[in-house]
Amino acid sequence: MEKVRLFDKTFKQFIPNARIEQAIDEVAARINRDNEGCTDIPVILCVLNGSMMFTSALMKRLKFTCELVSIKLASYAGTSSTGEVKEMMGFTSDITGRRVIVVEDIVDTGNTIVSLVQKLKDHHAREVKICTLLFKPESYDKDVKLDYVGLSIPNAFIVGYGLDYNEVGRNFEDIYVLDTEDTKMKYYVLFGPPGAGKGTQATAMVERYNLHHISTGNLLRKEIAAGTELGLKAKALIEDGRLVPDEVVEGMIESEFKTVKGVKGFLLDGFPRTIAQAEALDAMLARSGEEVTSVVSIMIPDQMIIDRISHRAAIEGRADDANVEIIKNRIETYHAQTEPEIAYYQKSGKYNEVDGVGTIEQVRDRIFALVDQF
Ligand code: 5GP
Repeated sequence: MEKVRLFDKTFKQFIPNARIEQAIDEVAARINRDNEGCTDIPVILCVLNGSMMFTSALMKRLKFTCELVSIKLASYAGTSSTGEVKEMMGFTSDITGRRVIVVEDIVDTGNTIVSLVQKLKDHHAREVKICTLLFKPESYDKDVKLDYVGLSIPNAFIVGYGLDYNEVGRNFEDIYVLDTEDTKMKYYVLFGPPGAGKGTQATAMVERYNLHHISTGNLLRKEIAAGTELGLKAKALIEDGRLVPDEVVEGMIESEFKTVKGVKGFLLDGFPRTIAQAEALDAMLARSGEEVTSVVSIMIPDQMIIDRISHRAAIEGRADDANVEIIKNRIETYHAQTEPEIAYYQKSGKYNEVDGVGTIEQVRDRIFALVDQF
């Protein structure tokens, strides 16, 4: 795999498994040399969870009698060190008077190692040697000597081969590094007829990809509820199954782009509805050197639209959904005005369809499989 996606982040391949195995061969050879003919039984201390893969691979190569002991420490949250090392589980065996070879997945700032060496002293270990698969020299500012280092790497966030991002990614046999291209703002357009489940799927996408959800429906309903001039105008048009003028909607959207901070992108739901709006959106984004990332279109048959909206109206008591004639009018409006947009986005290769028939989870997983690629 060239790239992998974990929650909101993309990682690209960095160290292939063959290179990792080679580094472990070299480290194991040195440890074997240093312990050749030893008469005691050294402790191989696995620092969970990160170093379980490395410990396993290393132990298979060790030629002397040794004992496995584990401890579980944690200091990372997300992609950065908290600076505070927490002991989640103590030594699984008594290490008093023993020679200990600490097996770490990675040494970054060195906080974990310093804290661990202190713990080993407190538990009266006779001798402590440190072995780490990976080492970030640019980040390390401690005095503890690292006796066996597999690979030195630049100061970047990595996952795989035991290393995690929020507890996932440990199972990859290769090591991946955070893809900095990933910091580019994303603009997704969610497409689909009324009742296609856009709202529900939008919520799932917002959570997974840390997006801000812009629903023109909700923005307008907010205006209507507040009884603004725009709200009153919009109310009359919506009740008639018609659309609110482009400039008004575009203005509301642009202001959301400018004011919302702290997200990785935006999810547009209900906008653009026409080619003119799609062009306006492109122009709006181009002004800040950005572009639509991808269009995701949820597809369902017309009869299913009518059934779903009537059902929802009964549950939520939404006046604009209660009348079948109004629903039909909205479907016609959708087909007539929005579908030409498909051709527009197909031209730029941004248009993608997802089958909207199935359970919420099935449709959600189809959407995730698609969006994970961007
Ligand atoms: P230190 O205490 O030396 O700053 O960090 C050691 C611990 O932080 C490691 O055992 C590991 O759990 C975590 N860590 C440091 N750098 C990285 C990294 O690039 N990726 C991941 N997944 N964890 C890291």
